[in-house]
Parts: sequence; structure tokens; C-alpha cells
Amino acid sequence: MRQTLVAGNWKMNSSRESIKILLDGIKASISDVNNAEMALCCPAVYISDVSNQLEDTPIAFGGQDISVQESGAYTGEISGGMWNDFGCKYVIIGHSERRTYHNESDELVAEKFETARKAGLIPLFCIGETLEERESGVMEEVVSRQVNAVIDRLGVDVLGEGVIAYEPVWAIGTGVTASPEQAQDAHAFIRKMVSEKSQVVADKIQILYGGSMNAGNANELLACADIDGGLIGGASLKADDFLAIGKAAN
Ligand code: PEP
Repeated sequence: MRQTLVAGNWKMNSSRESIKILLDGIKASISDVNNAEMALCCPAVYISDVSNQLEDTPIAFGGQDISVQESGAYTGEISGGMWNDFGCKYVIIGHSERRTYHNESDELVAEKFETARKAGLIPLFCIGETLEERESGVMEEVVSRQVNAVIDRLGVDVLGEGVIAYEPVWAIGTGVTASPEQAQDAHAFIRKMVSEKSQVVADKIQILYGGSMNAGNANELLACADIDGGLIGGASLKADDFLAIGKAAN
């Protein structure tokens, strides 16, 4: 039985003040979430606030990106050791916004997967196709290429130490959600392609859905056999919505 994981991605949103209000709201009713692990990935500059405010709660937290370097002259970069220093459990890697705006290649994302594991962090490994790719019928090819980049570099067992987030790019931040059928089909395909390398890893790996998941559609999406949780952007910035998604897994 795979544990449901609902992870928030605040992206480059929030402030010290809004974080305090948001986390107070989430903490006040987190006991109503009884079947999902909840996690929040915040901007690096707020990690100390988040770590302090989530102390003694069941809510995990993490970063949104990681440098492939351990330390040194890499201005602006954040290392795995730095995330670790603040008690992070997770780090997002390969988010489509980083693949697009920072030209992150499949190979670089695979390297980041490795760096995260070396630092003891669990990578939330994002994959997904653009609208153009879906419409031209190459969704399976695209996600296979993205997943195989990690398997080729590190082997399938290491892939199993992370979490996959299937995020169709056309659904991220657009308010357009993949239908439960579209999402389930993609998740089942991903699990099947992993099973061709290792049935054990395919059975255990959590595959989250991301792309405009919200309080209104979480029930249907989380009811799908191969959807093991969600990576949540916009709705993770509202305590009631984020909690409602967590409760949808109850
Ligand atoms: C995301 O960016 O990971 C995401 C899923 O965003 P949203 O929920 O806002 O579509």
C-alpha cells in the first residue's frame, strides 16, 4: 500500500507575514488529515521560518531546486547540505518551470536526482509533456525519456528512492486539469514502464499528479488506482484548499 503524499509548491510566492498566516491555518486543522503525508516546498529564503513553524507537527517540508554542486563559487545556488541543515525531507527537481526558464535538460535533472539522494533528500521528480507534445501523440515518449534519464544514470533502484510527479505542462497553473482518465492513463503508463525494469520499484514508487489539482477535483483524482497524491501549486497557498486536498485522501 503506497502512502498518499500531498506536497505544496509555493514557487516564488509568499512573504514572512503570509507564511505565518498560512501555516497557522494549516496547523490548526492538520489533525483532520488522517491518511496523507503533507509537505510544503518553500522558497529558500523562508526555510528557517518554515522549519521553526513546522517543528513538532507532522508536516514535512523541503526546497524547490538543488544545485548539483556541494559547495563553492556558485553564486545564488543552494546545496543539498544547506537544505539538510534545516531539516528538509524533500526537494523538487525538474519542475517544468525550471526545465523551460532555466533550460534544465533531462541529464541535468538526473544529476540533481543523484545530488539530492547523496544529501539524504527525497527528490520530487517532475516530468510531463507540453500541450503540443500531447496533441502530437508523443506524451509516452516524452515521459519515458525523462524517466529513463534517471534510470540510465543511477539505475532503477535509485529511482525508487524518489517520488515521481507527473505534471502535464498544459495543466500547470492554467486552471485546466487533466481528467481523471487522462491522469490515470499517464500514471499507469509510467508505472508500467518502470515495471519493465523493476516490478518492486514500480509497485512501491509514489506517482503524484500535479496540474491545477484543487479542493474541487482532488477526490476524483486521488481515487485513481495509480495516483498516489498530488503536487499542488496555487492551492497550496490557501490553508483551506490545501487541507481539503489532504482530506480528500481520508
Ligand atoms: C506545480 O507547479 O507544480 C503545480 C502543480 O501548479 P498548479 O497546482 O498551480 O497548477
